[in-house]
Amino acid sequence: MPKTYFIWTIGCQMNSSDSQRVASELERLGYRYIKHYAEADVVVLNTCVVRQSAEDKATGFLWTLKPYKENRPDKVIALMGCLVGVKGGTKLAKAFPHIDVFMPPSDPAPLIDFLLARQGEQADLAFRYQLQDEELPLLLPAHERDRLVAAHVPVVYGCNHVCAYCIIPSRRGRERSRPVGEIVAEIRSLVAQGVREVTLLGQIVDRYGYDVADGPRLPDLLRVVNAIDGLARVRFLTSHPNYMTSELLDALAELPKVCEHIEIPNQSGDEVILQRMKRSYDMATYCRLIEDIRARLPKVSIATDIIVGFPGETEAQFQHSLDYLAQLKLDVCHVAMYSPRDGTVSAKLWPDDVPASEKKRRLDAVNQLQEQIVKEINARLLGQTMEVLVEQKQRNRWQGRTRTNKLVFFEDDTYDWRGKLVNLEITWTGPWSLRGTLPGKTPLVVE
Ligand code: SAH
Repeated sequence: MPKTYFIWTIGCQMNSSDSQRVASELERLGYRYIKHYAEADVVVLNTCVVRQSAEDKATGFLWTLKPYKENRPDKVIALMGCLVGVKGGTKLAKAFPHIDVFMPPSDPAPLIDFLLARQGEQADLAFRYQLQDEELPLLLPAHERDRLVAAHVPVVYGCNHVCAYCIIPSRRGRERSRPVGEIVAEIRSLVAQGVREVTLLGQIVDRYGYDVADGPRLPDLLRVVNAIDGLARVRFLTSHPNYMTSELLDALAELPKVCEHIEIPNQSGDEVILQRMKRSYDMATYCRLIEDIRARLPKVSIATDIIVGFPGETEAQFQHSLDYLAQLKLDVCHVAMYSPRDGTVSAKLWPDDVPASEKKRRLDAVNQLQEQIVKEINARLLGQTMEVLVEQKQRNRWQGRTRTNKLVFFEDDTYDWRGKLVNLEITWTGPWSLRGTLPGKTPLVVE
């Protein structure tokens, strides 16, 4: 019987990608994925602490695991991600003695080394090191190989910014860009395993290369990735308004595989709050940038993030966020209620003085407005033909995404569309998804 693993993941796309990496390494050691933690020999919790609610879920799950560890002491419990942070989990070890291994974000090594040391099998060690020497690119876990269509690829780890509310820089460490060659080798290997679309990831992805003297920048990386055979699409996230350069917009406009979708958070529409958040741009700059992006990429879809209930945010200041959302009419708005995080500037300087019920009211107001906006944006797509990359079939419906990252469903039993680019005629639109049909009797396959 092969040994088994289970991975629980919460948080950002970087975490999903980190978990995939851990799965890949575990499978190289002969472990097999299992759907439930109860039976698994190894359980990994890949955690997020961006808000208290995420942290609570992780600690809740840790307590759930305790009796399982007591019943079976050889079960390995590994804690990974931002709850551990780059500095490791000394405090956590005291609070949760049933954790065997602590893994900083994006680093499978502590777990793999722990398992190898426990096995103590020299043959395995040699096997693994041989693999490392050859720098084999990422091998997808078996349940994703030849099934996963869209993958995430980290290109820059960590973050050097100090947005007042944000704990991520202290947990993920300084900015570190991966070499172009390593990224390309990884994407090629993903393509060989069925992947057709990659999203390049970074906390501030457009700072790719800034940590390397004369290093390549994101537009250079996009050019190289755009040229990879077999890859259909490239995306990147998250952008910061101060680094969305005209070179980057040029690359977006020129490179056929780079999709017209930009995630560019503004966090607040109020100048005073923005300054206190230490975002280092004002709303005039943000609006000009959105205008510029739209002028160069008429079909672009744009996503933003907004925090409501930042310390001291008055009703009038909150209204400024709503006003800008109404004015800019962006495609997506991820909204979050401010959550004070230990060690951040805002938690040190200001009390968390907007009551929870008021934060929730503001959150609901943003969501309500945004739903109306995106309903109208999507309604204009009715009758249009849109290119969709098909990702999977669920309950008899195929599902995929447009270049602008809109979810589209369609029905067809005649062909296996997974991983194919198809042109669909949009027949129905709603705020969260679209429906389409294959035009004509003979499906038109783009490639
Ligand atoms: N580095 C990325 C994403 C950071 S975390 C960026 O620049 O946008 C993702 C989102 O979580 C942020 O954009 C922000 O809107 C939200 N967030 C971060 N810290 C938060 C906090 N303390 N409380 C509430 N939301 C927070």
